Order: sequence, then structure tokens, then C-alpha cells
Amino acid sequence: MTHDAAVLKAAEIASRVLAPSAGQNDKAGRFSTDAIEALGESGLLGLLLPEDFGGSGLSPRTFAVVMATLAEADAAVAMVYLMHILGTATIVSARPEAKETLVPILQEIGAGRHLSTLAFSEAGSRSHFWAPVSRAHRNGDGVRISAKKSWVTSAGHAHSYVVSALAPQGTGPTDSTLYLLGADTPGLSVAGPWDGLGLRANASAPIALDDCHVASDFQLTEDSAGFPVMLNIVLPLFCLGTAAVALGLCRAAVAGTVSHLKNAKFEHLGQSLGESLPTLRAQLAAMQIDTDGLSARIDDLVEHLEKPRDTTMLRVLETKAAAGEVAISVTSAAMRVCGGAAFSKHLSIERLFRDAHAGAVMAPTGDVLREFIGKSLLGMPLF
Ligand SMILES: Cc1cc2nc3c(=O)[nH]c(=O)nc-3n(C[C@H](O)[C@H](O)[C@H](O)COP(=O)(O)OP(=O)(O)OC[C@H]3O[C@@H](n4cnc5c(N)ncnc54)[C@H](O)[C@@H]3O)c2cc1C
Repeated sequence: MTHDAAVLKAAEIASRVLAPSAGQNDKAGRFSTDAIEALGESGLLGLLLPEDFGGSGLSPRTFAVVMATLAEADAAVAMVYLMHILGTATIVSARPEAKETLVPILQEIGAGRHLSTLAFSEAGSRSHFWAPVSRAHRNGDGVRISAKKSWVTSAGHAHSYVVSALAPQGTGPTDSTLYLLGADTPGLSVAGPWDGLGLRANASAPIALDDCHVASDFQLTEDSAGFPVMLNIVLPLFCLGTAAVALGLCRAAVAGTVSHLKNAKFEHLGQSLGESLPTLRAQLAAMQIDTDGLSARIDDLVEHLEKPRDTTMLRVLETKAAAGEVAISVTSAAMRVCGGAAFSKHLSIERLFRDAHAGAVMAPTGDVLREFIGKSLLGMPLF
């Protein structure tokens, strides 16, 4: 599949499958299996997966456009897709000893029949996902893990979970190892409901691991080598992906606002809202400027990822931090401009506004990113 074909497929699925059901799925808190099936059939679940496994082997540039396109129609589905892409990238980077066992799973992903996700955050270490409090305990040729994973997107719907735990002999808080657990692993269960403010249709529920056995060929990283994979493989794609979700939300907010300003009328004045009020036009303009600014930031990050340099990690952190703020600000402006019609849920703007608040609290949170950026500029260690 080429870049253009992937973008066209994403746009087609967004308008045919995602957009018509986004409102109802949000209201019901319903995970869209239709959307995942459509993404699988189209080949988009294997977007970054190497061609050897049946994937398309495309780059972060295509990924960013696909993500924003899906998010413009339904950010909850886009976030499910993002976590799957991250899970897949982690499985692809597995240590050589695990590769042979993992090939059939990667081929299933390439065939669009396997959804993966990440289970990093824990009740004990909260947003500090790099420091799991659970620990793997050696058990024959594998390990046993008990853990309380506090938020797992696609919980109960994913076929596999990339799980972090402290290594059996790990001594420091970041001495984690990553493992792959199938959804049918004995002891793994969804441990509660998902009833979020936003992204209500992405099933980000807690999962419990109760003495789960993991065979050694499902150990993805060497002992204590989970942290560098989180930092070098997961973090750049996660920051790019969440920024693209923010961009999709901003574009949807601008489009929804334009439509409302054109269609809502002051009948006593014989004008639309947009024709009548320059203040609304100015706020709409500011929304558009911020949206295009975010788009330029994302392009800049893509360029940094394509040609890594000293400033690449800084850009990774900055882009997610900025995107979280822009999404909140643009969707808040849309709520204000569209007034009571937005507040009373007659428009989809309020869903965008709620969904936009997730980016800044998803780890690394906006506060943590600013802390990392500040420390990095001062030459201080981040951890
Ligand atoms: C919709 C959604 C989906 C998610 N999906 C997944 C998933 O698939 N997999 C997964 O592993 N996790 C997932 N998460 C979890 C997410 O990544 C965070 O771990 C979680 O949102 C943190 O919430 P908390 O209340 O534990 O934050 P807390 O850690 O309690 O943070 C509370 C406040 O303290 C601030 N804070 C924390 N540390 C610092 C610091 N060092 N400096 C300054 N301020 C700080 C935070 O910014 C925040 O404002 C998801 C979360 C959401 C909302």
C-alpha cells in the first residue's frame, strides 16, 4: 500500500464507518468493533508493520495523516488505533529469542485480524508509567506476574496486551521488562468499567493480572530493558499519534463551527451568525490559526523522526505538550462560539471538547512533559 492509498482508505472508513456512529457510540460508551473490522479489512492495522509480515511498512509520515483523518471523525477509534500501532511496534522490536513465536501474531496483525494495545499504567505508579510497581517473578522458563493495570485502551477487546513489570532481579524503579499476554491468558481480566468524560467509546478500563504465567518466548525485551523500548520506540510514536488526534479534533471543531456560523440564523436580522457577528469570525480565525500551527508542528516532528538529530527528543516532547493545549483551547473556543447550541449537545462540538481533554492527562502528561523539557534545556537528568 502506498502513502496515498492509505490516506484514501482512512478517509473512506472515517466517512463511511466512524462519522455516522461516533455520536451514538460516545453516548453509549460503546467500543466500535465495526471500525476495527473495517481498519483490519483495509490493511490499516498493519500500516507500519514490515512487509515481511504482511504489513505495509509505511512511515510515521503516513501514520500521522491517517491518525488525524480518523480522529477528525471519531477520536475514540483513533486512540484505539494508536494504542494498536504502539503495541505492534513493540512486538516487532522483540528480542531475537521471542521472534519465532511472535511471527504468527505479526502475520495476524498484517492480515487485519489481531488488535493489540499497551498496559503500562498502574494504580501504584499512576501516570509515571516508566516505573511499574508490579514485579515479574521467575517461574520455570518464564515468569508469573500479578498487577493492577489502571487504564488499558481496548480492554476486553484487544487480542493481546503489551504489559510492563519490574524485572525479577531489577533493582531500580525503571528496571522494567515488557511481555506479551494474550487476551485468553488465565488470570487476566477486565477489572472495572470505563465511563470517561471523553473518549468514551475506547474501553480504557482497568485490567487485573492475577498470577499470570508468561512463557519466556513471550518476553519481548531482555530483563530490565523495557524502559529503553518505552523511550525510543513507544514514546516518539505515541507523542506523534496523540498530536495527530489533537489535530483531527481541532479540524472537526473548526468545521463544526463554520457549519454552525453559516446555518444558524438571526431571523430578525436576516443574517447568519457568521454574517452578523465579527467577534465570532475573529474567534473562528484564531481557531484556524492554532489548528494550522499544530499541523506545522506535526510536520516538523515527522521531519525530525525521518532525519533524527540532537533536537529530535525535545521535539517529541514539545509536540505532545503543545498539541494537548491547542486541542483544549480550540475546542473550548468552539464551545463558546457555538453558544447554547453546543452546550445543549445539539452539535458534536461538546464531544470534541470532552475528547480533547484526554491528551493532556495521558502519560507523559502535559505537566510531566513541561518538567522534562525544562530539565532537558537545563542539562539536568530526566529520571
Ligand atoms: C482515555 C485514556 C486512555 C488511556 N489508555 C492507556 C493505555 O492504553 N495504556 C496505559 O498504560 N495507560 C493508559 N492511560 C493512562 C494514562 O497514560 C495515565 O497514566 C493516566 O491518565 C494518569 O492518570 P492519574 O490520575 O493516575 O495521574 P496522576 O499521576 O495521579 O497525576 C495527577 C496530576 O499530577 C500531575 N503530575 C504527575 N507527575 C508529575 C510530575 N512529575 N511533575 C508535574 N506534574 C505531575 C499530572 O500531570 C496530573 O495533573 C489512559 C488514560 C486515559 C485518560
